[in-house]
Amino acid sequence: NQDLAQVDPDIAAALEAERRRQESTLEMIASENFAPLSVLQAQGSVATNKYAEGYPGRRYYAGCEHVDVVESLAIERLTALFGARFANVQPHSGAQANTAVFFALLRHGDTILGLDLAHGGHLTHGMRLNYSGRTFRVVPYHVGDDGLVDMDEVERLAREHRPKMIIAGWSAYPRVLDFVRFRAIADQVGAFLMVDMAHFAGLVAAGLHPNPVPYAHVTTSTTHKTLGGPRGGIILTDDPDIAKKLNQAVFPGTQGGPLEHVIAAKAVAFKIAAGEEFNERQRRTIEGARILAERLTRPDAVAAGVDVLTGGTDVHLVLVDLRRSELDGQQAEDRLHDVGITVNRNAVPNDPRPPMVTSGLRIGTPALATRGFTADDFREVADIVAAALQPGFTADAAAKLRARVAALAARRPLYPGLRP
Ligand code: PLP
Repeated sequence: NQDLAQVDPDIAAALEAERRRQESTLEMIASENFAPLSVLQAQGSVATNKYAEGYPGRRYYAGCEHVDVVESLAIERLTALFGARFANVQPHSGAQANTAVFFALLRHGDTILGLDLAHGGHLTHGMRLNYSGRTFRVVPYHVGDDGLVDMDEVERLAREHRPKMIIAGWSAYPRVLDFVRFRAIADQVGAFLMVDMAHFAGLVAAGLHPNPVPYAHVTTSTTHKTLGGPRGGIILTDDPDIAKKLNQAVFPGTQGGPLEHVIAAKAVAFKIAAGEEFNERQRRTIEGARILAERLTRPDAVAAGVDVLTGGTDVHLVLVDLRRSELDGQQAEDRLHDVGITVNRNAVPNDPRPPMVTSGLRIGTPALATRGFTADDFREVADIVAAALQPGFTADAAAKLRARVAALAARRPLYPGLRP
């Protein structure tokens, strides 16, 4: 049982380089976060060794008494956090959670309604090449010219196509969805409403975003975005019949042995998410995104061809529209990367450029908020982003911005003392 550095220096070096990258740059990919040390410890624990097919108290393997405690605590904490009656904490990822819901409630060829990928939806909401798009008849809905989900279109499409399921949720959208109206539309046509809160679950847990659980038949999420836990998925419902189907759909329907080390880390994350410190962090997350949106709608940014979709944000991210800018999404992403800020390029609705290039950026604040960034820090970050998107950008300007990024990163150390 030698140390990783001795057994495998190549992997140890790559992981140490990754730790340094995370610490020395500003992570603004909206779907990312920094899991706390306690979550990393749980995930790196001996629970990784255990087979535990089944559910607490009903396993197909002996020796599950301790992982039963782990998984039961995870379920208890999760249901309490979101006020749901039932939870499944076994999905290996967000995509796996969604797949299990489809497997539980739909049949091949059923019709589903989901937000178009190009308008902010997720791959699992009906993208052509995804399991969802290949298995079901997909009717996409869209955002209107104002950038907001067009609920009249959702209602019209639902009445016309009578879907079996309506999916509300997004990967790139800066506003709050109208869950009340989504449910009313689902009820009108006899559809299940599934809400995928992967992105905004942390905001919900902190009471800063409407909770979809009372409105949706099923709510899914990842645990690693705003929620700040290990990479993984979860499913929630209030309906006992649906809960039974969901459990069967996860195991044995679509997965084998649960990742009890990840479930242990999820349990830790849910405990943290129930605390006041977590709420304060989520408030800074939203505040940071608002500061960014405000800075990127000032005259110098507008003159540089930068637009903020919907004019602002209610959540943890800002969508930047660069259609009027000299930069496309790829160039803007590269420019920010060059000064030490990591974001991802993102298609804007009706984007004239191909998906590998795009005309937009998605910029998120959860990871920096976790790192302790204050409103003042976010003002400095926003100024750096705005400066990097200006025309006539020079090597000298880039060097100055790199120094400002380095100063911010040094002020807020990440995982002090940790070596992988
Ligand atoms: N659902 C939404 C809305 C997402 O944004 C994502 C991730 O980007 C997922 C599901 C999928 O999660 P995972 O990458 O864990 O499969």
